[in-house]
Amino acid sequence: MTLQRRTFLKKSVTCACHLALAAAAMPAGARKLWAAESLGQVVAREPFGTLEKVADGVWAVISRPLEGDRTTLANGGLIAGKNAVLAVEGFNQPQGAQWLAAKSLELTGKRPTHVVVTHHHGDHANGIAGFQDGGQSCAIHSTVITRDIVLGRDAKSPTPAPARAAALNGAALLSSTEETTIDLGGRSVRVVPRGGHTQSDVTVELDDPSIVFCGDLVWNAMFPNYVDTTPSKFVGAVRGLKRARDTIYVPGHGALAKDRELDRYIAMLGEVEAAARKSFAAGVSAEDVGRTFMLSERLGPWALFGNVFYPRAFEAWYRELKA
Ligand SMILES: [Zn+2]
Repeated sequence: MTLQRRTFLKKSVTCACHLALAAAAMPAGARKLWAAESLGQVVAREPFGTLEKVADGVWAVISRPLEGDRTTLANGGLIAGKNAVLAVEGFNQPQGAQWLAAKSLELTGKRPTHVVVTHHHGDHANGIAGFQDGGQSCAIHSTVITRDIVLGRDAKSPTPAPARAAALNGAALLSSTEETTIDLGGRSVRVVPRGGHTQSDVTVELDDPSIVFCGDLVWNAMFPNYVDTTPSKFVGAVRGLKRARDTIYVPGHGALAKDRELDRYIAMLGEVEAAARKSFAAGVSAEDVGRTFMLSERLGPWALFGNVFYPRAFEAWYRELKA
């Protein structure tokens, strides 16, 4: 019975559901952490989050779903060139994409002409059709794995979303092995295949100014969801994001990050790995170590969205260590 329920949970949830389920249990201190002072200049403030200018022609969506409004839920953003505007993420609801499209028109004179979905989780993909509302043409870019997982999930859903299916069926497919360059006019965006958080993750990267939209490879001051994670690949991908020069990292969840926050995140992932290897070697179950695990104080506070998050991280590591 317990096992069946656990299997069901594992298969049926996305990071969006987890956040929604966990919000109620979140202590006030952690909620405050989520709303930490931003590195960007706030140009719009909504019940579900803020839009923050991080450079000329580049804005980040920083979602704050724990206030109760999950219109966007995941972070994302806008990158404008002379001829085109690229949006990052499809967001949790079509209304999130519609809102960002309207902001794009206000800020750049154009609605997004492109959108990149970083991975298949619902809070990043579910609202994608909102960019195509009103007959607007907007090229959708996703990997074949991301597209097929979302379409497969939709096909089994009791509440199908035909607009989303149509949008994804028409997607321009990103290479899973090579970088894709998208030219926006005087500005090139690199879409880099990485993976680790899920089977197929991409990052959206600018070289000048140095900005990385990390998708869910990075969570700032929030413990990541390992539900679909291959931990060693995940840790390797996160390390591979780090640049030698001053860079803004737009995480999938949490406030904007720089080197200091990314380093702290990498150290945190390292503590999880070390604990997993040690407890695995000692024959302690993932559930037991997950129930008692604590991050060291030097890492500062980390929002934990529910009791299941630590055991899930150890289960992911154990799957890999067993193999
Ligand atoms: Zn995710």
